[in-house]
Amino acid sequence: MLLPQTKLDRLLGEKTAKALAKSLGLVTVADLLTHYPRRYTARGELTKISEIPVGESATLIADVVDVSERRMKGKAGHILEVKITDGEGFVTATFFNQAWRKQKLLPGSRGLWSGKIGSFNGKLQLSHPDYALFSDEIEDEVAKAWAELPIPIYPASANCTTWMIQRSVKIILDGLETVVDEIPEDLVSDLISLDAAIRQIHQPKTLQEAKDAIERLRYQEAFMLQATLIRSRLLSMNQLSPVREAKPGGLLEQFDSSLPFTLTEKQVLIGNEIAEDLAAGHPMNRLLQGEVGSGKTLVAVRAMLTIAESDGQSALLAPTEVLASQHYQSILRTLGEKRAAELGLTLLTGQLATAERKSAMLAIVSGKAKIIVGTHALFADKVEFYDLGLIVIDEQHRFGVEQREALRLKGKTAPHVLTMTATPIPRTLAVTVFGDLDISILDQLPSGRSPIASHVVTDSQPALVARVWQRVAEEVAKGRQAFVVCPRIDEKDDPEDIIESDLLDTPKRPLAAATLVAESLKANPILAGLRIGLLHGRQSSETKAEVMAKFTNRELDILVSTTVIEVGVDVPNATTMVILDADRFGISQLHQLRGRVGRGSLPGLALMLTAAEEGSLALERVKAVAETSDGFKLSEIDLELRREGDVLGASQSGGRSSLKLLRVLKDQPIIQKARDQVLGLFAEDPTLEKHPNLALSLDLLDQARADYLTKG
Ligand code: ADP
Ligand code: MG
Repeated sequence: MLLPQTKLDRLLGEKTAKALAKSLGLVTVADLLTHYPRRYTARGELTKISEIPVGESATLIADVVDVSERRMKGKAGHILEVKITDGEGFVTATFFNQAWRKQKLLPGSRGLWSGKIGSFNGKLQLSHPDYALFSDEIEDEVAKAWAELPIPIYPASANCTTWMIQRSVKIILDGLETVVDEIPEDLVSDLISLDAAIRQIHQPKTLQEAKDAIERLRYQEAFMLQATLIRSRLLSMNQLSPVREAKPGGLLEQFDSSLPFTLTEKQVLIGNEIAEDLAAGHPMNRLLQGEVGSGKTLVAVRAMLTIAESDGQSALLAPTEVLASQHYQSILRTLGEKRAAELGLTLLTGQLATAERKSAMLAIVSGKAKIIVGTHALFADKVEFYDLGLIVIDEQHRFGVEQREALRLKGKTAPHVLTMTATPIPRTLAVTVFGDLDISILDQLPSGRSPIASHVVTDSQPALVARVWQRVAEEVAKGRQAFVVCPRIDEKDDPEDIIESDLLDTPKRPLAAATLVAESLKANPILAGLRIGLLHGRQSSETKAEVMAKFTNRELDILVSTTVIEVGVDVPNATTMVILDADRFGISQLHQLRGRVGRGSLPGLALMLTAAEEGSLALERVKAVAETSDGFKLSEIDLELRREGDVLGASQSGGRSSLKLLRVLKDQPIIQKARDQVLGLFAEDPTLEKHPNLALSLDLLDQARADYLTKG
């Protein structure tokens, strides 16, 4: 969709543009026009005054009954009081020093009112609501049309109401030229035009118009997704630049025979697939899916050794500094000091001291470092590789489709790419969602792995809640360690990384905050004498690394943290995990978190505490995780609830996904249709010569991804 990238401030004014940018991250015309309504409401569906809960935001349609002005008691200034009614209940809207409003707010005039409902002297009150009056001289016909007119309700915020967005969208749409469609007309002749769709999704005259618009735009997303995937696959298959052809040799052989365990069958099988890829003459682009603890990192290390055999370099990219240094440590352990030194195992993160950083960069550019572990910092312009042969990306769900492309641009010759994820998705889905990748599934845990026992404890079971800390103390007494995970850092903080708030029920009490929980556990007599540490995303990188090191070295018994520990952290002696307000986390997030325990041969225990009520969706989610450890099954449940963008793209790491309307599971047929059409199109016109708009649009998407990546 080729929408203008014009900045909104020029069209909407500084103030509105600022609010849109700050609250919702909408900066350009394209951003705003693809900020789609969450749903539509008709008159009847709006909140009734009699049903409004005090303290909550509400939108009403109401008529002005009476307007009066009075002096503030004991203060300078006037209050304008506007009594409004929906025919049943009454609310008083109040404005401070805004008497001018009364000229338009005539008794009998009708409008939409939006704001937070308070109570004052026993009366319901809306202070400084946002409102939009319907024009006075409404004709019957117009009134009827209005009554049926769907009103878009946007994802909004306190500073940026749905009405404000609606008004802004109107201004933009009024001045918008016909939207250019990159999809060839004959492929979408059964749908409304793209231009109509973009207008109708925001300003439908009937619900059917909105539905038609959504159908069209959903198709657009499916088509562009598949076009991106298939084009990138074609590009990598036809890569003209030389590609490393690496074959396993002595390094790998020695390594395998030095392992204290035998590889699982699947590890061997996938190892062979990868070996074939690496020798095939075009860049590997493989997705390795596997449960937490299934031994993916080991598979990656073996691929790296094959690359090293041919004198090439491999870089493992982790999503956070904590994870990068964890990976570094665990690869160091796996390889052994001597082999690691020979291979020049090197860590490069943004937080290294200047001297260390310089020497790491030198090792990388000179080719001495054969295996490099790092964060985004690895892809900074200044970092040059001597001969990068393989990129391993840890945790697919943090580096989606949106970034993979940009990564590949870094190598001089096209590097092989191996992506690992512990958020598995079923193979049939994977093909349509990650259609540019070959897929390996490591669905076999190394033997001797103990299962993790999971239990849900609700607030309504105080005796069990007390027992939780007793259990933690018992585990520690046995020489084990425990994680305590909280949804937020401190009381001021919004929860980190939680799933879309509209899927969640409102919390009944303040959510557990890591800093406060750490304090209260230190004061808890049951845990007296235990060494308790704190880890969260707002600490400096040094502090984080220090705390992690202490925990790894068993200098801490309990680690209270946020989701920083979600992925990859490997401390086999940590056997217990307490997850506070577990309902605040998404399904795969819980599964990931839980995977941090039971990593060694010791049995793991996960205790998930929640205030969610019996029968709520929130509790169902937590229970689903407790009931099964099958990651594939959980990911299906999860995908039902989440948007495809979250699965694919950057949205989890703060970037904006280009997918907003597509759902992975529900929209399979649409995705499949788009895939077939795109394949047909590329078969006829592989270079997109005859489809310049599509080529342009894909280039722009790639550019946006590359920008996102380099900016972090
Ligand atoms: P993942 O990355 O899939 O979460 P790792 O590669 O980190 O899993 O492996 C988890 C642990 O299991 C590591 O300590 C690793 O050394 C060990 N491991 C890997 N493969 C095997 C195997 N075949 N047998 C026994 N232990 C293994
Ligand atoms: Mg791992």
